[in-house]
Amino acid sequence: MIQLIRGFKDILPGEVELWQKIEKTAVALLEDFGFKEIRIPIMERTELFTRSIGEDTDIVEKEMYTFPDRKGDLLTLRPEATASIVRSYIQHKLYAKDPVRKFYTIGPMFRRERPQKGRYRQFHQINAEIFGVDSALADAQLIFILATLFSRLSVTDVESHINSLGCPVCRPNFKKSLNEFLSTVKDRLCSDCNRRQTRNPLRVLDCKVPACKEALEEVPSILDSLCPECHRQFEILKNALERLNVPYVVDKRLVRGLDYYSRATFEVKTGLLGAQDAVAGGGRYDGLVKTLGGPDLPATGFAIGFDRLVELTPDSGVDNARQLDIFVAALGEKSRALAFEWSCAFGLAGIQVEMDMGDRSLKSQMKRANKFAAKHTLIVGEKELEQGSVILRNMATKDQVSIPIEGLVENVKAQLTM
Ligand code: ATP
Ligand code: MG
Repeated sequence: MIQLIRGFKDILPGEVELWQKIEKTAVALLEDFGFKEIRIPIMERTELFTRSIGEDTDIVEKEMYTFPDRKGDLLTLRPEATASIVRSYIQHKLYAKDPVRKFYTIGPMFRRERPQKGRYRQFHQINAEIFGVDSALADAQLIFILATLFSRLSVTDVESHINSLGCPVCRPNFKKSLNEFLSTVKDRLCSDCNRRQTRNPLRVLDCKVPACKEALEEVPSILDSLCPECHRQFEILKNALERLNVPYVVDKRLVRGLDYYSRATFEVKTGLLGAQDAVAGGGRYDGLVKTLGGPDLPATGFAIGFDRLVELTPDSGVDNARQLDIFVAALGEKSRALAFEWSCAFGLAGIQVEMDMGDRSLKSQMKRANKFAAKHTLIVGEKELEQGSVILRNMATKDQVSIPIEGLVENVKAQLTM
């Protein structure tokens, strides 16, 4: 038997209802804040990701599903959505009418990581991006939307962590003092971190190896190296969050694994998912639009780990067993043809319906009606048809009424609302 690919999963009926509820809640919220949906392809030229995400990141180094297509072009299943949204923003000149644009997109991402709880090779994200706004108020709005979404979904054990990554003006200073610090703890760092130290030292801060975390306890804070403008923007962010009553924690070790981020960076963490504690991550990526060949426009955004959010969201109030309104049971060939037409008419009228399309006894059809937990069964028998009526049986009370065929759908509707 062919099994699904390791790290991939099916989302089955019974589970999918919670996904739908979360998606509806997120879409309603984002639309209220002026975000428009954008749908981008799940495959792009590999170059888009290597250029935007950066060669020295886990994603590009070892997690991408990359392959040559039949003509030899290198293609990659998207590991994240931002690069594609930026490509689309540039390619279609979406900035032309107004550089300020807000987009959201929801869909699968692909990273070849070691599968474990909360970490899959195909996972899903809810992305939101704001283009063309320099101010940290845009970052504050994104964090506010995340906090609101989690609260609307009754997800309680979450905390917003924020930091600033500085900008091309002040980050080099920090990198210098970081490097000096790292050489003093070199022997205690893992081999990956030793390699990163020369190529992408910020990423050492992100290492999950416990020994590295310990070695970094006294690491200098980037916040002490910020230039006046980065400092001012970070104050604007913190003040806005305070005024909106969004609690936050300043976390000097918070960095993004992606190269294009600058200034505000944030992550929503939870205590409920074990090692995979980030439910959402985001921040400002002012340099990316230009890097990818567009105008010099700032941008900021977030990505929610949809799968992790599903694991955190209580499924109370999710209707994953909507009760069938009517089971149509037909006796005989002629009745079945009519029953089939009627069942289609019920469906069109918004009455949830099922019927047995095979040639089965009334007893076995009633059994199926019970299995479906149908509220009513409509019994279509040849004798009754001759008299121009059918029987509607209330499955709870076992009451039966005769219903005229003339205007059947309306008659049945009237009975259902009684
Ligand atoms: P992590 O530190 O958990 O690897 P990340 O920094 O790689 O996360 P981002 O690229 O910021 O993650 O993606 C945003 C969110 O997407 C994460 O906060 C997480 O909730 C989710 N996510 C990332 N990778 C996976 C995965 N392999 N499986 C499920 N969810 C994921
Ligand atoms: Mg990762």
